[in-house]
Amino acid sequence: MVGGGQLARMTHEAGIPLGIRFKVLSDTPQDSAAQVVTDVTVGDYRDLETLRAFAAGCDVITFDHEHVPTGHLRALEADGIAVRPGPDALVHAQDKGVMRARLAEIGVPCPRNRLVSDPADVARFAAESGTPPRRGSGEGFPVVLKTVRGGYDGKGVWIVRSEADAAEPFLAGVPVLAEEKVDFVRELAANVVRSPHGQAVAYPVVESVQVDGVCDTVIAPAPGLPDALSAQAQALALTIARELGVVGHLAVELFEIRQADGTPGVLVNELAMRPHNSGHWTMDGAVTSQFANHLRAVLDLPLGDPRPRARWTVMANVLGGEYPDMYPAYLHCMARDPGLKIHMYGKDVKPGRKVGHVTTYGDDLPAVRERARHAADYLRGTIDE
Ligand code: ADP
Repeated sequence: MVGGGQLARMTHEAGIPLGIRFKVLSDTPQDSAAQVVTDVTVGDYRDLETLRAFAAGCDVITFDHEHVPTGHLRALEADGIAVRPGPDALVHAQDKGVMRARLAEIGVPCPRNRLVSDPADVARFAAESGTPPRRGSGEGFPVVLKTVRGGYDGKGVWIVRSEADAAEPFLAGVPVLAEEKVDFVRELAANVVRSPHGQAVAYPVVESVQVDGVCDTVIAPAPGLPDALSAQAQALALTIARELGVVGHLAVELFEIRQADGTPGVLVNELAMRPHNSGHWTMDGAVTSQFANHLRAVLDLPLGDPRPRARWTVMANVLGGEYPDMYPAYLHCMARDPGLKIHMYGKDVKPGRKVGHVTTYGDDLPAVRERARHAADYLRGTIDE
């Protein structure tokens, strides 16, 4: 796996019972996966020769992030390496402009969007996009601007209220995509896994609660989601996986909206072609985790059952904060809740950085949510009882 982050760490964990020999190409020996995988290459994935040397001993290459340059992936394929997902699929998770254009071609509903060249063009987009003027905003504003490459956890996303406000996104020299600011009801994710010979499975659609642009809590399944909309979202994700030729796990981040006629609908926000934070709940809450199914898919093995094991599963991220001494924190959390599942990633603590997650499950959603919330806050050090 290219990338030594927590996704690689948890994918490795899923491969252990299958006896899969797992190697990582990691930026540093301290990275989350590099701490636990025995076969680690420390090197820069942006360097083609480093990638080539790493890939030479592998049956298949997969990723814990989407930043490997497309040209490098094509070069590996030309060397005869199985790259899964392949560059033609992965480019849609790397470049938001390419993704929006392709989704429009295959008829997938998205926020109104187009590439913009400068702040004046943003103002034209705002006027065209027809959002009624709001107090404190120019005509058609606010508008969401995104650099097409390199964003994550809300970095590379700006909400701008006027032309004068729109300069910063252009400073990086990366193309900028403008989108209407969707007045969404909540954020959902439809996660599917597809194998090279076309078998696919769909996990239940989840609600993903974001705080300050970072995923905070995931509830599986999304509470109160009408069956028809859930089926529609799953079908959309399966269509995207098939049409884009995705192999492995695909997370389709969605906005739930109220349509003009009052009925609920969904718009696609973005795609991730790897295990995803919105699928962490599956480690404890589904028959087969996203990590196990990602491995099965990239190895072209039959996929495992994606169904949930409990009525409700809640995952809460543990963010870096005060981060107490873990031993007393574990004593408290484990004594309070023997059903709690804790996954820490071995990462250095930086404020706001995802350093682990907890999962709870059961029949009573408010109670399941409270247990997860309490444990995540306690492990972060923001509460002490
Ligand atoms: P990232 O690549 O950082 O994950 P996203 O495109 O997912 O960026 O955007 C981060 C967050 O910004 C989303 O989860 C959502 O809350 C908000 N957002 C993004 N696009 C829009 C939009 N068009 N309308 C309203 N909110 C948006």
